[in-house]
Amino acid sequence: MISTFKGLNRVLITGSLLAIALLYFFPILIKSSNNPSFYLQVVSVAVCSAILTISLNICMGYGGLLSLMHTGMQMVGGYAVAILAVKQGWNGWLALVASAVIGAIFAILVILISLRATYLYFGMITLAVNLIAMEAVRHGGELTGGYNGLFGVFAPGIPSGMMSAEGFYRVMITILILAYVVQRNLIFSGFGRNTMALRESSETATALGISPNMHRVKVFSVSGALAGLAGGLLSIQIGYAVADIGDLNNGLIFFVGLFLGGVGTLAGPVLGVALVAVIDFTIRGTGQYRTLVLGSILLLTMIILPRGIVGTYRASRYGSPRSREVMPGEADNYHLDIAVKNVTKGEVLLEAKDVVKHFGGVHAVDGISVQFKAGEVHGIIGPNGSGKSTLISALTRYHELTSGSVTLLGVEADKKPFKVARDGVTRVFQIPHLFERVSVLDNVLTGMYRRDKYSIFDAIFRTPRYLKANSRSVAEAKALLSLAGMLGMEELAAGSISHGQKRLLEVIRAVATEPKILILDEPATGLTQDEMHSLTSLIRTLAAGGMCVVLIEHNVAFLMDLADIVTVIQSGKVIAEGTPQAVQKDERVLEAYLGNTDFSKELA
Ligand code: ADP
Ligand code: MG
Repeated sequence: MISTFKGLNRVLITGSLLAIALLYFFPILIKSSNNPSFYLQVVSVAVCSAILTISLNICMGYGGLLSLMHTGMQMVGGYAVAILAVKQGWNGWLALVASAVIGAIFAILVILISLRATYLYFGMITLAVNLIAMEAVRHGGELTGGYNGLFGVFAPGIPSGMMSAEGFYRVMITILILAYVVQRNLIFSGFGRNTMALRESSETATALGISPNMHRVKVFSVSGALAGLAGGLLSIQIGYAVADIGDLNNGLIFFVGLFLGGVGTLAGPVLGVALVAVIDFTIRGTGQYRTLVLGSILLLTMIILPRGIVGTYRASRYGSPRSREVMPGEADNYHLDIAVKNVTKGEVLLEAKDVVKHFGGVHAVDGISVQFKAGEVHGIIGPNGSGKSTLISALTRYHELTSGSVTLLGVEADKKPFKVARDGVTRVFQIPHLFERVSVLDNVLTGMYRRDKYSIFDAIFRTPRYLKANSRSVAEAKALLSLAGMLGMEELAAGSISHGQKRLLEVIRAVATEPKILILDEPATGLTQDEMHSLTSLIRTLAAGGMCVVLIEHNVAFLMDLADIVTVIQSGKVIAEGTPQAVQKDERVLEAYLGNTDFSKELA
């Protein structure tokens, strides 16, 4: 079976290489046709579209950012080249580089004003920006050539010291291949994992110390740079820049191509655009039906093949599991050191004083003071709705406090949840928050990104620094997985493992962030006996290494067995605190739970 997969992969790789060769030699193949420059033009424009679609895929497919301004970014890139090369007399290559830079700047400006916007609102903002940008260009006077646009950029023949049309065509193919490689290298790196983490759940990404805003800016600027470059190439290829390039109607091919090929897949955008371009070319005689045909393809894709061609293939047993640059055997001799650095056992790591959190009239947390100490397992129990989860959200700054204070290692805790995470407090939510669409290994690696000491450029160019950091991270991630008895599952999609394994994986991912305080909100829910044993021994190992493990549980037997100290909460207040033995005998606790038969039975 494995060899069938390999065989199929070999066919796909050979096919791709053949397609690249065919594209390079295309100008020679069409030489004897009746209109070579027309055919060259058609394929060149499709190449620009493919580059733009890769850009759209990075932001929409991987980043979950609904952009309706990609045609606008393309237009901006086109005008950048037109203005700089034609009006300012810049060298064409330099103007092309500028189109990417200006595309990135444009994207950054837009994302900065919309950081608070949710998915749909962000989409609407980009739509508005697109319309405004087009109008601005139309009324840009001499600079933009108004409604007529700017002509004489370089085509036909692409003179102005650049090269022949054929030569420029080959440059475009090369840029398309580079754009694909950039996309691939980014997606496989920490940058890509953070991007997908943000797409899956901004809340979880934050808990792992990822700054959602900063990362959105990065994703959108990379996307903007590629879109600007695509626009720059297009204006050189067609020889002019005009506001209509920004019209969303002209973006049909990008959206249809992306979804037909497979949104959020590497090869999807290129394959999709290639198919749409062929269809478009075939029906070119029937101008008025073009929109109808493309619209129908999009509709059918959404109904029949929502993952697109590549996405469907990847989800099938032929395309998955895929080997993701994992070097086997590394976990075996990796020395995992989970001891917490720079803390002494018993040291107070976090101190909450009189923390109050009210939701309108609901006094969810009503004046709780608590200390979390290094090397301790700190249990928190209390009936449903007593305020345990709210307390955790307040301490980790997911909720703004109504009053009270939280200090972390002696200083006031930062107000931003991702900073609290970076300062050493990692929480695992009560409701599972896995990144289900990525592999088990990638989930753990996402937790480790703070230790990745490489830049986005290291990732794109695969520098030795990146390669070294990556193989170290993979080895460490596997060693962590083996702690929970999950070695061998790295390649599976996280969504496909059992419920208990998912919960364990979330704990492992949290441990991967190297926290000083690990907060687990009801982690044992739905675990089998074996999984409970794995969890118990993992928690003991972590605490022995100096970590403070805060354990919220309603399984009292499980908690009492593990905890060094237990805090009992009722109606947002602490009613008892002490060793498990003391708490179980505490009058107030027994009294509070007298009506709750389950609980008093468990306590007995
Ligand atoms: P526990 O985790 O102990 O079961 P919670 O902290 O989830 O309890 O909830 C404590 C109380 O606060 C409950 O009455 C709950 O309904 C309320 N509560 C929790 N979160 C919110 C919220 N975001 N808005 C309003 N009320 C909330
Ligand atoms: Mg809860």
